[in-house]
Amino acid sequence: MKSHAKAIVIGGGVVGCSVLYHLAKAGWTDIMLIERSELTSGSSWHAAGGFHTLNGDPNVAKLQAYTVQLYREIEELSGQSCSLHLTGGVMMADTPERMDFLRLAHAKGRYLGMDTELITPSEAKAMFPLMDETNFVGAMWDPVEGHLDPSGTTHAYAKAARKLGAEIVLRNRVVELTQEVDGTWNVVTEQGTVKAEHVVNCGGLWAREIGRMVGVELPLLAMEHMYLLTEPMPEVEEFNKSTGREMIGVMDFKGEIYTRQERNGILLGTYEKACKPWSPVNTPWDFGHELLQPDIDRIAPSLEIGFKHFPGIEKAGIKQIINGPFTFALDGNPLVGPVQGLTNFWCACAVMAGFSQGGGVGLALSNWMVHGDPGFDVWGMDVARFGEWATLRYTNAKVRENYSRRFSIRFPNEELPAARPAQTTPLYDTMLANNAVMGDSWGLETPLWFAPKGTEPKDIVSFHRSNDFGPIGEEVRATREKVGVTEIANFAKYEVSGPGSEDFLNRLMTNRMPKTGRIVLTPMLNEFGRLIGDFTIAKAGEERFMIWSSSAAQKYHMRWFEKHLPKDAPGTSQVRIHRFDQTLVGLSIAGPKSRDLLQKLVDVDISTKAFRFMDFREMAVGGAPCMVNRITYTGDLGYEIWMAPAYQRLVYKAIKDAGEEFGLVDFGMRALLSMRLEKNFPTWFRELRPIYGPLEGAMDRFVKLEKNDFIGRESAAREQAEGPKLRRVSFIVDAADADVMGDEPIWAKVGGKDYGTVEKPHGYGAARFDTDGKEVRGSSAAEGASAVRGIVDGDWRVVGWVTSGGYAHYVQKSLAQGYVPAALAANESAGLFEIEILGSRRPARINVEPPFDPSGEKMRA
Ligand SMILES: Cc1cc2nc3c(=O)[nH]c(=O)nc-3n(C[C@H](O)[C@H](O)[C@H](O)COP(=O)(O)OP(=O)(O)OC[C@H]3O[C@@H](n4cnc5c(N)ncnc54)[C@H](O)[C@@H]3O)c2cc1C
Repeated sequence: MKSHAKAIVIGGGVVGCSVLYHLAKAGWTDIMLIERSELTSGSSWHAAGGFHTLNGDPNVAKLQAYTVQLYREIEELSGQSCSLHLTGGVMMADTPERMDFLRLAHAKGRYLGMDTELITPSEAKAMFPLMDETNFVGAMWDPVEGHLDPSGTTHAYAKAARKLGAEIVLRNRVVELTQEVDGTWNVVTEQGTVKAEHVVNCGGLWAREIGRMVGVELPLLAMEHMYLLTEPMPEVEEFNKSTGREMIGVMDFKGEIYTRQERNGILLGTYEKACKPWSPVNTPWDFGHELLQPDIDRIAPSLEIGFKHFPGIEKAGIKQIINGPFTFALDGNPLVGPVQGLTNFWCACAVMAGFSQGGGVGLALSNWMVHGDPGFDVWGMDVARFGEWATLRYTNAKVRENYSRRFSIRFPNEELPAARPAQTTPLYDTMLANNAVMGDSWGLETPLWFAPKGTEPKDIVSFHRSNDFGPIGEEVRATREKVGVTEIANFAKYEVSGPGSEDFLNRLMTNRMPKTGRIVLTPMLNEFGRLIGDFTIAKAGEERFMIWSSSAAQKYHMRWFEKHLPKDAPGTSQVRIHRFDQTLVGLSIAGPKSRDLLQKLVDVDISTKAFRFMDFREMAVGGAPCMVNRITYTGDLGYEIWMAPAYQRLVYKAIKDAGEEFGLVDFGMRALLSMRLEKNFPTWFRELRPIYGPLEGAMDRFVKLEKNDFIGRESAAREQAEGPKLRRVSFIVDAADADVMGDEPIWAKVGGKDYGTVEKPHGYGAARFDTDGKEVRGSSAAEGASAVRGIVDGDWRVVGWVTSGGYAHYVQKSLAQGYVPAALAANESAGLFEIEILGSRRPARINVEPPFDPSGEKMRA
């Protein structure tokens, strides 16, 4: 074993081998994989080997599509077969709601390059005759599904990596990780210490233990998982003989079941409700190529449904039941990327579908390590997406919830109950007493809407408008016409201070920093000129800035801030960053009466001239020391008031008491989001994401190219010179009783004209990649059309996608935001666009000016 490597990958499961292969392919050959035992000694060896492209997050779905495409490449390079069976598969819906879900998934697939198709139960039965089709109302066919040999596939990655120069060391456990002052890692193994610049945790079942070696508790948990194999079945053999085809894969939502042909019999697995964590605290190091004791009672309820839905299988003898552990993060997606607070320590773990996702994970991580950027929108699997609240016990509760709902539908207005409440503000009990329906916002309980007194504060979950529609409308109208108050503790808040703080922020942000006492809005870009943040910044003092942004991006942004901190001379501290999280909470008041209300609570003049729009001031509110921003996300006259948690109840009570005479109401997050829609305001992670440039995101007025050399400036200048490919726009949609939720396709009647993009940027779909991971397929509508079924319909083409939307209660319109080719972005013609909602194409019209207060008069009043 050599004593130094550029990168060391710990763990030789399918994920570690894929990371090793992709690093070698990207040109890093001084790399080593260290495996405790033999390759596939964690969960990889006993996997069922199924793969598919569907995922709730379209960006992860793309990485899955890439994974499936990769198998031929590694087979060719390694000479090792993966035993690919590309059978295709169906998802079966047994209720109209599940069919709505499939319609949504099918619609999303249009711009992802997926070739799915909605079919009848009888058509599904023709491909899997063991089912009783009368149990179902419909199905979705996906041709890019199948199964493979897990061990062969892992070895194919490993052999291909070796061919490219990588080294693999077996039977050698990593026992300790330490880091030198210069950042070099000491990887202490049973066979000696290796120095490395980078370390990658691909420890699978032991990823938590490897995290603990560097002081990190990764939010993942292994769950027991069972699938059964039947004896050979004559029906299967007969089908193969008569059709010349293998039986397809089937996913059955109701039974949380997947099934497919395995040799001459059937494999059937289930995500049972009565699920069981494995080794909830520590994974034993001596766990080898072992299986767990099957527990048929636990899966009996699922099997009962399974045998009813697939009576053909019930008759078969069960040959074997496999029970093995594999890991999940809270939301079932992987944990990938650099760990915030550490240097050159990378993760590729909690990959619960290694044979669907392993390739995409390897590609994104290797891009990130070699080129400094994953190259794709990987937020859905970024290790930074969970906060400190994701402790061992929190993770345990959430992973069990996620496992038992693996194939369940998550409705757009559905909040999941496990591990809640975790964090609460001092107003939590008051909000419950006010009949608030609470939601989880990055681990924090946040009021979503207020149910009328005497009714149960509970969402009726649905894809359609639901029981919150009326009350939200009332919250919005009362706020817009009088005044409303809402909690805003669920924002991220930072303080950047020190003599170098202004220079530091000027280097990171696209907008000029404000003068003392003023506020600016500013995007942040990466080196490629893509949007990686959207901030409100106030200059609170000569060397002190207050910053607000998206709560969920706190670790993501801290990682970026820390990476770009100036390297101080010893003994000096040029820039200090403090993340408040819940040590600073807030309330926002908005509406035409908000100034009168606030004036009653403060001892300073806050008239229009004394406290202008976009001013920041520290003042006592209701007797409590607060920071006040004259700005609100509702787009009305309004204020954001920030205070230490100890004062929040005092300030809230003062607002409520003083507000009575003005007709003050409480409003929740959903009303806030409805109001921002009618101002065409974007949201982070919906409209603004790292796949868009600032001009594309319609954020150009916050980009000051002339101010100084900020990160991403060159690319932003190029975008401006060449013009954007896409543009964020707002639509008024002629919706029925359901509004957009995000990810719906946007159709345009463009005849034969090619307006450009059909797939999301950095998209894979059916695309191929060169060694840099760049998409090499053209993305013109015409080319897309030939590759993807269902994006052209006569004169109509899919030209874009929705990012978010909903009902805007004040202007009484259904609104949507999304991206379309820039050439179409200013075209307000009626009849040009349609947006597909739950399978039905609804007329839509671009609305360039915001429907509420287009001149911003009210906001500035
Ligand atoms: C019953 C069952 C069915 C499944 N079916 C499917 C399926 O159909 N499709 C699908 O895609 N996925 C399936 N999976 C999940 C799949 O197995 C996992 O997604 C995948 O194996 C994860 O691979 P990994 O490389 O992350 O982890 P692992 O396979 O656990 O590999 C981790 C490796 O790291 C090594 N290691 C750990 N710590 C150290 C250390 N300190 N030093 C050196 N080496 C170390 C271990 O020995 C191990 O070899 C199934 C899993 C189970 C249990």
